[in-house]
Amino acid sequence: MIISLQGICYDAKSSFLQGPKLAPPLIREALYSDSSNLFAEQGNSIEHINLNDEGDFAISDYLEIETITANHLKKDSKLITLGGDHSITFPIIKAYHEHYPKLDILHIDAHGDLYDHFEGDPYSHACPFARIMEKGLASRLVQVGIRTLSTHQREQAAKFGVEIIEMKDHALSKIPKFENPLYISLDMDAFDPAYAPGVSHYEPGGFSARQVIDLILSLKAEIIGADIVEYNPTRDVNKMTAYLAAKLLKEIMVKMG
Ligand code: MN
Ligand code: MN
Repeated sequence: MIISLQGICYDAKSSFLQGPKLAPPLIREALYSDSSNLFAEQGNSIEHINLNDEGDFAISDYLEIETITANHLKKDSKLITLGGDHSITFPIIKAYHEHYPKLDILHIDAHGDLYDHFEGDPYSHACPFARIMEKGLASRLVQVGIRTLSTHQREQAAKFGVEIIEMKDHALSKIPKFENPLYISLDMDAFDPAYAPGVSHYEPGGFSARQVIDLILSLKAEIIGADIVEYNPTRDVNKMTAYLAAKLLKEIMVKMG
């Protein structure tokens, strides 16, 4: 099994600050930094993975994201995407649908990203999971880390049957058993800003690094794809958020491989 890696340098659909388009090369740099080795916690090194790095793509048109992803998502391949803001997840999942008509999604985020539209844009980074669910692209959507639900987003979650384990209620024992191939969408603002200052939206009261690593390690389903989004280098401190993103990338890669 080959695991492909692509960087999607795009943040035009961020509602508050720009910056996530700068993230992909900095996450790679942190991953391969001499400050650490390439072993994941379960014991394997990413050097033993058949990794096909497609490189980073500067995106000028939102529609390119689906095409680029479809080109990299060959039959029976797995793909990890470095973002970019969270708007990229909708076109990515559109590309997945052809290969994975039954797909479960584990969405790790401070925000539900379920707005019908945000400031007039239905493709805003506040909306991707509304678009995914209304197009029937996910068999199941489970959200964790959520701590900003508005009345509108609660209504949207009920309408689409989204299963939300709010941050205040989090426990590993509440994570369901996934039956279908699993896609993980990790928004870096799911972490408490103390662990991940390099994000656009500070939402205190979030996950520790340990909690998200334990969540990834606990998964039993076959993970066929993932994205790591919303890292904003312009807000980072000593690259600590880049290193956190790289750590999660390493753990997800080995879990997938
Ligand atoms: Mn998000
Ligand atoms: Mn978020």
